[in-house]
Amino acid sequence: MTGGPAALEVNCPHCAQTVPVQYGDSAVYDLSCLHCEQSFCLFVRKQKFEVLFDLGTAALLGGYAREAVSSFAAALERCFEFYVRAAVLEQAAGQGESLEDAQARLAATWKLVDRQSERQVGMLALAYLTREGRPPDFLRPQTLGAEFRNAVIHRGYLPRREEVEDYAAQVFEVIDHLLRELGEATLQVQALDELAFAAHFVALPPGTPAVTLEPPGLFRARMFGRFHAAAWNKGQSQDLPELGAFGPLASAQAAQRALSAPVNQGRTPAEVFRATLSDFGVGAADSVDGPPRR
Ligand SMILES: [Zn+2]
Repeated sequence: MTGGPAALEVNCPHCAQTVPVQYGDSAVYDLSCLHCEQSFCLFVRKQKFEVLFDLGTAALLGGYAREAVSSFAAALERCFEFYVRAAVLEQAAGQGESLEDAQARLAATWKLVDRQSERQVGMLALAYLTREGRPPDFLRPQTLGAEFRNAVIHRGYLPRREEVEDYAAQVFEVIDHLLRELGEATLQVQALDELAFAAHFVALPPGTPAVTLEPPGLFRARMFGRFHAAAWNKGQSQDLPELGAFGPLASAQAAQRALSAPVNQGRTPAEVFRATLSDFGVGAADSVDGPPRR
């Protein structure tokens, strides 16, 4: 394990050697193997908010508490966007419309709000009200830790690790809440991603192989674990994402833990996050570059 959660590792489909890949802004990577120099394509099944939350967790575990805040804050905003997308695609699918057309209309709309996070919160509020039929109470500034985030990001406040853990737990709780309510609507986003992967693949030079990675993480397990839990319990784990070692929160153990974590009974999502954090806090310095932890 060299790169921590900020990096991926993929086995080259030509020579089978390991190729490190830094996370980029797109889920599609056109790669050239550094060992055999042959081309291949990598598709990564991981939403941006998941990547950002993992990066925040890695920064926190690595001793960079202040830096972690901006990743957690960005994860929250990107999860809002994910919710709106899932809700729009779900509605389109329900009406028998094409996901691509719905996505194009949403993209044109999102352009109007993508520079201002307050506008995006407005989009989420309406999408939530429309889908759930009740006000999004969790959008209150104190629930979102907005004051803390602004102090850190805009006013140079130096937070203690415990404060950042509190903030991260709050963000985790909101994201988990949204994913839980979205339920199978999350699969519509995945379906659209798969269509984009397929379109990219057919446009590649003939014979170019493609590899798909599904790095597990806490949210991925909690998103799709609901649908896979039955198969998992029966020991039919082939339906689950490939469980590799992608850093503290993305290990097979973390995924298993998240899958078995009580969602509605017992611990709150924030407590689940804290337990995971403390479990993986020990030894995390092995997989995250940074100063020694206290
Ligand atoms: Zn190779």
